[in-house]
Amino acid sequence: MQTIKTRFAPSPTGWIHLGNARTALFNRLFGGEFLLRIEDTDQTRSQPEFVAALLEDLAWLNLNWEEGPASPEPDTYFQSLRSDLYDSYYAQLEKNNRVYPCFCTPHELALSRKAQRAAGLPPKYSGKCAHLSADDIQRRLDEGLQPTLRFRVPPGIGITFEDLVRGQQRFDSDTIGDFIIRRADGTPAFFFCNAVDDALMEVTHVLRGEDHLTNTPRQLLILEALDLPAPRYGHISLILGEDGTPLSKRNGSRSIRELREQGYLPLAVINFLARLGHAYGEETLLSLEQLAERFQLQKLSRAPARFDAKQLDYWQNQAVRAADDDTLWQWLTEPTRKLIPDAHRTLFLTLVRSNCLFPEEAQPWAEIIFGDDFPITENAHQILKQTQSESEFFSAAIEAAHRNPEDYPAFLEALKTATGARGKRLFQPLRAALTGRLDGPEIQRIYTLLGSERTIDRFTRLAKKTPC
Ligand code: GLU
Repeated sequence: MQTIKTRFAPSPTGWIHLGNARTALFNRLFGGEFLLRIEDTDQTRSQPEFVAALLEDLAWLNLNWEEGPASPEPDTYFQSLRSDLYDSYYAQLEKNNRVYPCFCTPHELALSRKAQRAAGLPPKYSGKCAHLSADDIQRRLDEGLQPTLRFRVPPGIGITFEDLVRGQQRFDSDTIGDFIIRRADGTPAFFFCNAVDDALMEVTHVLRGEDHLTNTPRQLLILEALDLPAPRYGHISLILGEDGTPLSKRNGSRSIRELREQGYLPLAVINFLARLGHAYGEETLLSLEQLAERFQLQKLSRAPARFDAKQLDYWQNQAVRAADDDTLWQWLTEPTRKLIPDAHRTLFLTLVRSNCLFPEEAQPWAEIIFGDDFPITENAHQILKQTQSESEFFSAAIEAAHRNPEDYPAFLEALKTATGARGKRLFQPLRAALTGRLDGPEIQRIYTLLGSERTIDRFTRLAKKTPC
């Protein structure tokens, strides 16, 4: 059996966004070996900083590659260093008359497209340079003109392939004009080096965006002309933004980098992306291995996926709850970590798990619990004032805390018995006194984290009827 090899082949022209991260993920989940290739032939748009960011972002997502660049320093997995190799394949196509130099200027091409459109025809290269004589070609080269190289598309054939996601596909070669495989500046066009490298790197399966579907017949023609094996292609549906147009910055897409900086956990992002266009039927957080085990091509949707920011936060919540202590501790901000005494770390993290989506949300709780001063909200203030004026609630609380310093249930029982308070009348003043708020983590956790000294101190301030 042939071993499966998938790949991710990004162009380092920007930071990875949700869309291309999902492409990388689906290839990873499909199974087999995962290869990473940097498609940096567009020298004006490719930036080394984006390569470094890309490797870092993929590593952060745990999308590790078995084969690919060892570092951001260009190596054989960078297309910019493979031009000699591409040249040998151009030479082969030239030798077999499968390509020709094209001297049409961008202006001429634009005019031709315009004329075709005006005549109600889909724009396609006219074939003007397809039959230039050797002398003609030489004369133009001697004039210093720099041609592009066009692939001769064979007329009158059907190009068919079985798409892994969308099933049988057929393209009529007559609708495809001869296309450029090498630009006038000598750099390879995407179609060409992408297809050649998949073959040379022995990629067997390619999952990529639907926007590449019409490139596939061209790439199959190139590979056939070079007698190179073609991978199986599968085109995954696009992701639409909340407004129904393709996902972009404008309608909600964010880079992986931004998500990381906002405090999203990698497993949250992975679980979110895995379900964008793939049905799992399980709303529980799954590890990368579990997602891979359950990944099936038949479960990839042909309809566009919808980005939903609420879903992303749902997975974030799940990931925070599932994170182990070390992960969560590192995730907290430095100022928050500084406030938490070692002995209370584990319990504080338990509180974080059920109350915080992002690291900065833990900071106020660290301040409330471990700081000397904490703000009191307006409604907590009202409750405290009312309780102070109506009853001896806080003196009873001091007494109960004294007797049960380590035992919250016993403390609560004692307080109930002493005050007769129940429900809201019991919990609201308690919460307000200990945290200055009426919402938040379970009081039992707060009580334990505060310790009896600070708990009693907070009740004492109120029992003295000093204005809170
Ligand atoms: N470099 C191409 C891109 O980023 C790769 C397309 C493909 O996956 O074949 O769009």
